[in-house]
Amino acid sequence: MKTDEYILPLYNRLDIAFIKGKKSILYDENRKDYIDFASGVGVNSLGYANKKIVKTIKKQAKKVVHTSNIYHIRPQEKCAKKIVELSNYDMQCFFCNSGAEANESAIKLARKYGNIAFNTPKYKIITIKNSFHGRTIATLKATAQEDKHKYFAPYPDGFIYANDINEAISMIDDTTVAVMLELVLGEGGIFMQDIFEVQKLEKILKEKKLLLIIDEVQTGVYRSGNFLISQYFGIKPEVVTLAKGLASGIPIGVMMTNLKNVFSFGDHGSTFGGNHLSTAVCNKVLEILEEYQNSGKLDENISYFNSCLQYFVEKYPKIFLQKNGFGFMQGLVLKDEKNLNDIVNFALEKGVLVLKSGKNIIRFLPPIIISKKEIKEGFQRFEDAILNLSYIKKEII
Ligand SMILES: *Cc1c(COP(=O)(O)O)cnc(C)c1O
Repeated sequence: MKTDEYILPLYNRLDIAFIKGKKSILYDENRKDYIDFASGVGVNSLGYANKKIVKTIKKQAKKVVHTSNIYHIRPQEKCAKKIVELSNYDMQCFFCNSGAEANESAIKLARKYGNIAFNTPKYKIITIKNSFHGRTIATLKATAQEDKHKYFAPYPDGFIYANDINEAISMIDDTTVAVMLELVLGEGGIFMQDIFEVQKLEKILKEKKLLLIIDEVQTGVYRSGNFLISQYFGIKPEVVTLAKGLASGIPIGVMMTNLKNVFSFGDHGSTFGGNHLSTAVCNKVLEILEEYQNSGKLDENISYFNSCLQYFVEKYPKIFLQKNGFGFMQGLVLKDEKNLNDIVNFALEKGVLVLKSGKNIIRFLPPIIISKKEIKEGFQRFEDAILNLSYIKKEII
């Protein structure tokens, strides 16, 4: 029986449906359990059914879920303060509901800045090959993967693509207003940018009064071990965007910027953005994760996770080329891209959820609070999946 008769066929779904979860474990309709190394796609930062989050949702729902942004929203004010403090950037926040919307907001802000800050308006935004910035018309065009652009033209003007940071620097001209960048490419291969190249880019942009927009939709909210990965790079961007992990599954996005006087009333907005429910949950998520990071546990578990991945690279050199990534955003690069779907499927069969990135990378985005025990169990199951692949494909281990 076709179960999704009334749903547009936009996703090539795996044949499985989950009905509940606990910590970093999900259960399917047959009560089989799965260790979750995917967390949605980097969304469920606290895993599943976290007691404090359940309590926060209940408590807030009993009071008020939503009012318009034409009124003050106290949990939103608290949330903005917390995000800015954790970032250590002198910024203000705009709340929306997704990563694409956060990046769309950043693009609008950059365009307005380009219009008002210079004698001749600047509008061009440079992005990096294999980046991913969203699926709205503008953020799709900002996404430098031209195979994804085939059917949806015409696009807004003013996006150009650089192969790497040095090429981005060489492409800056009189019409350029910003460079938009993921510091680790999420969808495009878990490739981490070079710190010194990023710092060089930042310096050149600052000299020209142009903007550095860092898309932290995937890298943000402690995925790197820090609240933001840009903190680790030692840069001060003009704009940072966040979404995925912020409220552990409740939709929320943030565009934060140090350009506090560019937007004025009515330039931008959102109906749902920053409502009582999403920001109350976000406040609780951030409180829990900040404490967790301070305890040292996050760093400890990230190192353990890394050592497990390193084991696979060393033990199975016929299958894996290398390990890419940072913190809890990691990839195993396959020698043969034909194995990608098989590994994801065998892993599912053995009870561990992993993701893909690019054409030949197994991507790992576990919940931030995943325990050492869950990590160990997940990698045991992952090894069973690899052994299955070796057996079927006659790869010599
Ligand atoms: C997921 C993602 C987006 C898009 O977020 P949505 O919530 O799906 O709109 C944008 N940028 C990056 C880096 C992402 O990983």
